This record gives sequence, C-alpha cells and structure tokens, in this order.
Amino acid sequence: MPKYIFITGGVVSSLGKGIASSSIGKLLESEGMKVTIQKFDPYLNVDPGTMSPYQHGEVYVTEDGAETDLDLGHYERFTKSPIGKFNSVTSGKIYNTVIQKERKGEYLGGTVQVIPHITDEIKRAIKLVSRGKRIDVVICEIGGTVGDIEGLPFLEAIRQFRQDVGRDNVLYIHLTLIPYLKAAQELKTKPTQHSVGKLREIGIQPDIILCRTEKKLSREARDKISLFCNVDKEAVIEAPDVKSIYEVPLVFKKGGLDKIVKRKLCLKTRKSNLKEWEDKVVRPALNPSKKVRIAVVGKYMSLQDAYKSIYEALKHAGIANDCAVEIKKVDSGKLKRSTIDRHLKDVKGVLIPGGFGLRGIEGKIAAAYYARTNKIPFFGICLGMQCAVIEFARNVCLLKGANSTEFNKAAKYPVISLLEEQKKIKKMGGTMRLGAYSCTLKKNSLSYKAYKKKLIYERHRHRYEFNNKFMKVMKKNGLIIAGLHKSRGLVEIVELKGHPWYVASQFHPEFKSKPDRAHPLFVDFIKGAIKLNEKG
Ligand code: GLN
Repeated sequence: MPKYIFITGGVVSSLGKGIASSSIGKLLESEGMKVTIQKFDPYLNVDPGTMSPYQHGEVYVTEDGAETDLDLGHYERFTKSPIGKFNSVTSGKIYNTVIQKERKGEYLGGTVQVIPHITDEIKRAIKLVSRGKRIDVVICEIGGTVGDIEGLPFLEAIRQFRQDVGRDNVLYIHLTLIPYLKAAQELKTKPTQHSVGKLREIGIQPDIILCRTEKKLSREARDKISLFCNVDKEAVIEAPDVKSIYEVPLVFKKGGLDKIVKRKLCLKTRKSNLKEWEDKVVRPALNPSKKVRIAVVGKYMSLQDAYKSIYEALKHAGIANDCAVEIKKVDSGKLKRSTIDRHLKDVKGVLIPGGFGLRGIEGKIAAAYYARTNKIPFFGICLGMQCAVIEFARNVCLLKGANSTEFNKAAKYPVISLLEEQKKIKKMGGTMRLGAYSCTLKKNSLSYKAYKKKLIYERHRHRYEFNNKFMKVMKKNGLIIAGLHKSRGLVEIVELKGHPWYVASQFHPEFKSKPDRAHPLFVDFIKGAIKLNEKG
C-alpha cells in the first residue's frame, strides 16, 4: 500500500501549492521512490475544459485526453509521475458520479448525503489514482484555501483517510503565507496561526508547515509557528521566493523537508540524487550565456497562467540552448498589418499559441504574415497553425476570404473546417479531439530533423482541422505537409518552402516539454531565433 501526503493551502491562494507538491514529488523520486501526484479542485465544473483561461489559467491536456488543471503540467514537468484522468478530480466529477449512482438505484432506501456519500467517493478517487501501479507515495493537492466552504468535503475526506489507512501512512502538509509588514519591519505569523486553527477545527493537525516568505524566516518567527501551530520546530520549513521554480526542490532539501517527510512516514532512507537536476536544469536556467527575445502573440496576455506550458516550454528550450528566452507578450487584439512592425521588429521569433473564438484572430494572421515575409522563425500551435494556414491561403494562394468556419461559417474558402463527426456533436464538454494521436513526419522536413524520428505522438485539443480539399493548391504554392495522422489523413504539421524556420502544428507540443528534456520543436525554434540574433 502506498503512503499518502495531503497538501493544503492557507491564508491566500496562488502560493504555489502545485510547485510545492511537484517539488516534494521530485525530492522523493530523487531517492528512488515512485510517486504520483493528484489534484482536487473544489469547483463544480466536471473538468476545466469548458472554462475560459481567465478563470483558472491554461487547460492542461494529458496523454489519455483529460482536460485538467494547469498544476498537472507542473507535476509532469517535475516528476515521472504517471498522469492521466484519475489525477485530476473536481467536485463536479465527484457529485456527477454520486448522482448517477443514485439514479441507478445504488443507494436504494437511503438518503444521499455529503457525509458519507460524497466523502466516500473522494476517498475512492484517492485510492484509484495508484490502483494497479507500483506507487510508493501518492501526493494529493487540495485546491483552494482552507476556510473555503467548497473545500470542506475534501478536507473531511482526507481527515477520515488517516483513520482508514493508519497514522503512519498519512502526512498533512500545510502551505501558508508569512507576510512581511514593512511598517513594523516584522514577519507576521498570525494569519498562519488562524489558518492552522481552522484546519484543527476540521480535525486535521498539520505535520509540516511550509512557509512562503519574501524575507528570511527569523528564529523567533519559526519558534512562534512551532509553538502556536503545534508542530515540531524542524517541521517549519521555509519556502522563499526563488528565481527559477526549478530551484524549489533544492531549497526544500536544504531546509530538511525530505528528512522529515521520510521520518514521519517511516519511509526507508535512500541516498538522494538531485545532482543531475541541479547541473542540467537549475544551473543553466540561472546562468545562461546568451539571450533572445521571442514574441508570444495571443489574446490572454495580461494573465500569467493562460499560456503556462508554452512559457515553460520556451524556458526549457532556453536551458537546452544555454540561452535566456525573454518573452514579449503581444496582445493580438492590438495588431494590425499596417502597424505590426512596431510590435515585432525587436523579436527574433514569433509564436502563436492555441485559442478559441474570433477575438484577436486578424492580429494573429497579421503576425503570421509578418514572420513569413520577414523570414523570422515562426512557431504556430493549434489555433496558431490554423492562422498560419489562413494567412498562406489568402496571401500566397490568393484565395481571398479564406477562413476557418469557426470564425466565418459561410467562408468562401473554408481552409480550416469541422470534420463530419464533429458537426453532429451538440454537447461542449469533453467532445473535442483530445489527447495523444500519432503523426508521421515527412523525411527531411524541419520537424523530422528536430525529432530525429518518423513516428511521433503528440497531444491534441481542438475541433477544427486543416481542410484537405485545399491541400493541392497549398502544396503547389509552397506549403509543406510535414506531418500527417496517417489513418485519417489529417494534417498535423505544415512548414514553408524557402523559410529558415517555419513550423506550425495542429497538436500541442508544449504539454510534453520538460526542463531536463526540452521539446525538440521548441529547441529548434529557439536555435533558429539565436541564429537570426547572431546575424544581427
Ligand atoms: N479553436 C480551434 C479549434 O477548436 C483551435 C483550438 C486550440 O488552439 N486549442 O480547432
């Protein structure tokens, strides 16, 4: 049976619980343990697939096609944890299951209640994530902040869980904020005391407190937290701000977190090996020898989390190229072909990420035009690929009015359109082309050179596709079909004849990039940008 670590958050949201969970996973993995990490989100959507990125940031897609919270992206980037649909659980999913069971008559005669029916279903979900796998530790992150009404059933379930599986098998970690008050020149522990008090009311006594601080945690503050929150002194661990998120496992190790986790869970001690992570990831991330500026042209630019995996994948490619990647966030809503030079003249690469809906589309098409005609390395992803195809159809193939039927149902040249099977779909949740599909690469294409193999698997999240009726005219005009999902004849990658680096994919390569294994397309995109930079 695996051991369980439950991670809760206190005082405020956005403290980086996802990164803390991933870093703990990394620490344990570095000692030879097998971990898996699971996220519980207290909202009522069955999954985040129908939400705008303005709500909870990017929707992260797993290999098995689940649309999940962006923290699952961190889990995959930091660890080897097997991640799939069971790793992301919302209140909506839990309630949905319970209500369906009720309709089937599985609780005949009974009143269906939050306790025990919802809490039992949550506990089942915790066990399900490691079923049939050899997992030593399940790390389970509870979304939201202690004190939220929505989160109560989850907290009650994890409280009960310790009773069910035994004291030595469960650990509670509470991540909290220790604010620094400038006027008083002091770190304040009171909000943390309140947050832990709230947890104790529910019946959970945290074993470890992770303290997010801007300033170094003073001895006095540490003693106070230990005394008032009823935790061992060495279980008060500092989590300071760091330059790169990939430093966090090292910081935790330095603070002794691994030792105390192992002791409390009675895990056998093995020698940790974070050296490779430190050498291959952290050091190059902190001391790059070059720098290059890349424009990301999208419509959710004010929000840090909307393109999380894209930004991380760019950083990974920077690490692989010994280069700092400076990201210029360009709002596609503001771009016009006549004035675009102002926004893009100082960048050495243009990336257009995925997206939905009409707003900002013409700006993205203008950006694709700019990169194509000025021979700037260009990387289009999903909607970015569709914009590149529309631009090419309009301006090179001279198909005036070419568009995607997502934006103009009556487009004269629907170069991007729905497959027949998608036309019949009425329900919006979980019905896109989702998850990993195979793609066969064309020999000698830029993509083939990057991957160095013919058959690849990449993750999808879209409804619309390249319309093969236009394949002939596009090819004739210089578009290269560099990747195909063979069995269905679906275009997965397009490239351009005579351009130094122009690759656009229907899939989302950013979901598979890792800091120590940067994605080959991102690596070569940055390589192209560095080349252009060196040319001056
Ligand atoms: N809106 C487009 C589609 O549904 C692209 C989706 C995306 O970029 N993820 O096909």
